[in-house]
Amino acid sequence: MIKYHPTDQLIEQFAGGLLTPALSVIVATHIDLCPRCQQVAHDAEQLLAEQVMHTTPNKLPPELNQQFNAMLEQILATPAPSTIIQPPYHENLHLNGKVFNLPATLARQYHRIGEWSRVPGKMLKAPLHLGSNECINLIYMDHGSRVPEHTHKGNEITLVINGVFNDEQDEYKDGDFVLLSQQHTHQPETRDEDCLTLATLDAPLHFTSGIARLLNPFSSLFFK
Ligand SMILES: [Zn+2]
Repeated sequence: MIKYHPTDQLIEQFAGGLLTPALSVIVATHIDLCPRCQQVAHDAEQLLAEQVMHTTPNKLPPELNQQFNAMLEQILATPAPSTIIQPPYHENLHLNGKVFNLPATLARQYHRIGEWSRVPGKMLKAPLHLGSNECINLIYMDHGSRVPEHTHKGNEITLVINGVFNDEQDEYKDGDFVLLSQQHTHQPETRDEDCLTLATLDAPLHFTSGIARLLNPFSSLFFK
């Protein structure tokens, strides 16, 4: 069972196309994995569609209303293209001798996954190139990995794609959507299992303890 979900408000913003590319991908990937949020997204889309159908023409002044109807007619009259070019779909991710089954959103974005690099603490990361300047990475934690304790200067969202990780608060499993803000200090780790996550940060990590503090000037090495 998925324990942590995006807020309904975030899903409504996703349905309305209001989120940044990184947030859209991470929310869409959660929705792929979560029947509860599929329903919330479906309801939000339904409501938006009804709002568009029922309110737009009446609220427009007559001359714009005419233009709107002409545009609608033109759209409806345009024949559908015979071939739709789909981005390559690639659902198997080979990593560390294992094959991970990617959720549909990530399988469609596979061609945007950059090069994998090692991160201190038995981890690997690869950026997802979405064409925005946001920081979003696939992060693989081998079993027995540990990220040094840190706070965040911005928000950190981690979505578990497969596996388990823990921090001081809880245990997070497939589909869990974990949002942490500047108030949280935590030390994510894996125990007996490994974990593949998708994570986005809007500012570098700030390490708070022990020798890891020395890493602060380089904290962007971890997840940027
Ligand atoms: Zn959910």
